[in-house]
Amino acid sequence: MQISKNIYATHIEEDSSTFGAMHPGGTHIYFVGDPNDHMVMVDSGEPYRSWTKQIQDFYSELGKPRISSIVVTHGHGDHIGGLDRLQEQFGCIVRCHPKLEPLLTHKLGEGTVKKLRSKESVIAGGGVKLRAHFTPGHEADHISYYIPGDKVIFSGDTILGNSSSSVRNLKQYMESLETLAGLKPNLICPGHGQIIKNGTARVEGYIRHRTEREEQVLSALKSGVDSVDEIVTEVYSRNLRRNLRSAAGRNVRTHLDKLTEEGLVERQEATFKLVKG
Ligand SMILES: [Zn+2]
Repeated sequence: MQISKNIYATHIEEDSSTFGAMHPGGTHIYFVGDPNDHMVMVDSGEPYRSWTKQIQDFYSELGKPRISSIVVTHGHGDHIGGLDRLQEQFGCIVRCHPKLEPLLTHKLGEGTVKKLRSKESVIAGGGVKLRAHFTPGHEADHISYYIPGDKVIFSGDTILGNSSSSVRNLKQYMESLETLAGLKPNLICPGHGQIIKNGTARVEGYIRHRTEREEQVLSALKSGVDSVDEIVTEVYSRNLRRNLRSAAGRNVRTHLDKLTEEGLVERQEATFKLVKG
């Protein structure tokens, strides 16, 4: 499908009752630039052959343009799978975060992978440039790519189309969201889920959601609640399903880590137990 003048994508859908549950709203692989000039591909999906085949078929539909580079948003398996096959077919360079470069060089071979500097631009065809914005938080090696003229962001897993993102480091993640909000995007092309038309509003909504949660965690602490489990009970609805409860616990923990990093909260180890009974 064609998303705008210089953005094309193939949408990969999975059975939502099995593997697809990992990717609400499916996955997008983007081709950016001018098919008559040259193009850049964003991410390479899961390593399954069926995925790579769909990407190759879409590439054929585009008329097999020259691919000048593949840019990677981050090193999770559902974004760098099939990279070996696709890089070999396109004979192009792979660009990524400096932290991811050693792993990808190990996978793809010496001289194939080049690390990006923060704010470096990658030239796609048709006069389009993708500017690399380092956006850690979902993962330390995460990059979002921005087309300044069109105000489009390729957000990887930092912003998703149909759900909220999982976060490894919330302090970094919030800073990354501020970076993305500052770009005032019209359109966000996420790694998973629907294309987002009101980009800036979506980023601001993400920021608001996390800020409200943080306030709830702080007021729970103020009321004397002091364990992750009790905070979950305080902050989330009482009848949270068991499997959602552990996700809620992880989420509360990322908030407590952030508040600890900021010096607003300290961890106390006040209980002891015997090592051997
Ligand atoms: Zn992903």
